[in-house]
Amino acid sequence: MDNRRIIESFSKYCRRCKGRCCHGIMVGLFDWELPRTEGHTLPSSPQKGVLNITFEKDCLFLKDRRCSLHSDDRLLDCLSYPVYPRIEDGRVTGLIIHKGCPYHEEISGDAELTGMVRRMWEENLWRLKPEQVAEFFSGEFWAGEMLMEI
Ligand code: SF4
Ligand code: SF4
Repeated sequence: MDNRRIIESFSKYCRRCKGRCCHGIMVGLFDWELPRTEGHTLPSSPQKGVLNITFEKDCLFLKDRRCSLHSDDRLLDCLSYPVYPRIEDGRVTGLIIHKGCPYHEEISGDAELTGMVRRMWEENLWRLKPEQVAEFFSGEFWAGEMLMEI
């Protein structure tokens, strides 16, 4: 999957909310993504293969109001939000969307975009250990009332 196509497809929504998910929320990194963050000081090390970085204001990768990670190095979490896969037995069995994004309803109806996000996760499945998947999708962020099936 071409990351630039996903970023460009999301941009028509993200421009309208001024890229709010790069400010004051959280980003999750998988341990195999750490080399992409070279040159940045991370607050801690991954636990169970996942590092959740919370930030009260700007994300530590934000520079001059843009993500400093090249599109090829963009984190899976950032490319995906607010659309995520249901992963069962090592397969993507469906998609969910997080209601924290103000445009989640419009995005959920954007079949081309949600299809690209699904393919991106399917292409990365081989990198994901089951315990990482369990860790990534744990915590209050994933409370059922904040999720909607697509
Ligand atoms: S909250 Fe939604 S629309 Fe806003 S930047 Fe994040 S993904 Fe884009
Ligand atoms: S890593 Fe980049 S895209 Fe992801 S939240 Fe931070 S600034 Fe935004």
